[in-house]
Amino acid sequence: MPVQIDFDTSYTRLPDRFFARLEPRPVAAPRLIRLNTALAEELGLDAKQLASPEGVAMLAGNDLPEGSAALAYAGHQFGNFVPQLGDGRALLLGEVVDRKGARRDLQLKGSGRTPFSRGGDGRAALGPVLREYLVSEAMAALGIPTTRALAAVTTGESVWRETALPGAVLTRVAASHIRVGTFQYFAARGDLEGVRLLADHAIARHDPGAATAANPYLALLQGVIARQAALVAQWLLVGFIHGVMNTDNCTISGETIDYGPCAFLDAYDPAKVYSAIDQGGRYAYGNQPRILQWNLARLAEALLPLLDAEEDQALAAAREALAGFGPQFQAAWLGGLRRKLGLAEARPEDADLAQALLTAMAENAADYTLTFRGLCDAALGPAGDAAPRALFADPTAYDAWAIRWRERLAAEPTAPEARRIAMRATNPLFIPRNHRVEAALAAAVETEDFQLFEELLAVLARPFEDQPGFTRYSLPPEPDEQVLRTFCGT
Ligand code: AMP
Ligand code: MG
Repeated sequence: MPVQIDFDTSYTRLPDRFFARLEPRPVAAPRLIRLNTALAEELGLDAKQLASPEGVAMLAGNDLPEGSAALAYAGHQFGNFVPQLGDGRALLLGEVVDRKGARRDLQLKGSGRTPFSRGGDGRAALGPVLREYLVSEAMAALGIPTTRALAAVTTGESVWRETALPGAVLTRVAASHIRVGTFQYFAARGDLEGVRLLADHAIARHDPGAATAANPYLALLQGVIARQAALVAQWLLVGFIHGVMNTDNCTISGETIDYGPCAFLDAYDPAKVYSAIDQGGRYAYGNQPRILQWNLARLAEALLPLLDAEEDQALAAAREALAGFGPQFQAAWLGGLRRKLGLAEARPEDADLAQALLTAMAENAADYTLTFRGLCDAALGPAGDAAPRALFADPTAYDAWAIRWRERLAAEPTAPEARRIAMRATNPLFIPRNHRVEAALAAAVETEDFQLFEELLAVLARPFEDQPGFTRYSLPPEPDEQVLRTFCGT
């Protein structure tokens, strides 16, 4: 008997052209590798039932709930428009309403071919599945909006990616899977009714307040701009590089989605690129705000006919909304930097102070995460300077900056210990270091040893706490451990 989950299907009540219904494409021997019991609980799902053979059959895509579907979307990939992408290796099982009343999608990734698969096999390899599991859960623990990982199963089958690799399926949980590219899909077909139905659905789901605004569709656009500006500011603040900021990987919900060739900075370098397919550096760390703005302009274009019946008016409204992006992003980013520096008040000179630190870090290859973590103790006084200054190729670059910083700190009444506590709650010690992630994946894929994966996952669940015994996970790579390139793994 299939598992009993009370799935709702608000998305698949939209017209047929929004998705394709699917039959299972069973795999040989599903085996549960990891179940996120805390997330299951949050979703109101029975973890025991999910871990049962019937549950695992669903998590592998062998036994699908009625209404399962692959969703249609389009997107700009590296700037080039592709009118049809869609869930080529994913399917929506359905929606559940979680314990807080929020609607969440459950989606399988790697569950087999769909009408959107084009040349692909619809499958996923174990490495990329575990990578998404680790990094998305780490992002959640860092307090950054993200899709979540509910489960990972292996399929008992191989997938071919230049070599044979173990196949796997990830169960992803998302506030929704509506992307900028979903709007583009209908707009590119001249299907204005489709754009409108999608916008109404998105408003009901993500911007209920917009429904009663003077211009609901403009309010939706403004909502997406605000959420995405805040999101990408948070990425920068933890040193995250998404790697494939195509418009189909840009959500309406404001959650981070699609952990492909993503990576975290070790040494601070705004031009840093890891993704093997990003040869022009379009999605470099420091380019992310600019690219986001470009993506949001594509959303505005798709929504244009809904913004106003008069084209000039619609364009003016879109331009005004997009003009709000820069200031919103700057405010979120600078606000975050102030918190990272232990500043509770806003002063005009703060942007310069923060930028001076970042410049010194870039010039001296200082580790991004450890520098800010080091400042937490240094905020108590110069006795704490040894750790952060040692991260700079030329430590005197830190000393010069620290003098300015202390003058600025002294201008605020915050008690030093309270400041240190606040800084430790915003400057993580543990991020998913690329070399640690790769080592965990290699052990799992090459020798079916999941111990490193489990250990790393546990450490990353508490990124702001010192975890004696696990200090090694906080350290940057030795030169021979450095990860130079990351891959999509599709
Ligand atoms: P992504 O790079 O993961 O954002 O995927 C971009 C597009 O390629 C989406 O339409 C995916 O569904 C599709 N895709 C990626 N991998 C596969 C695969 N193995 N089989 C079929 N489609 C895929
Ligand atoms: Mg994608």
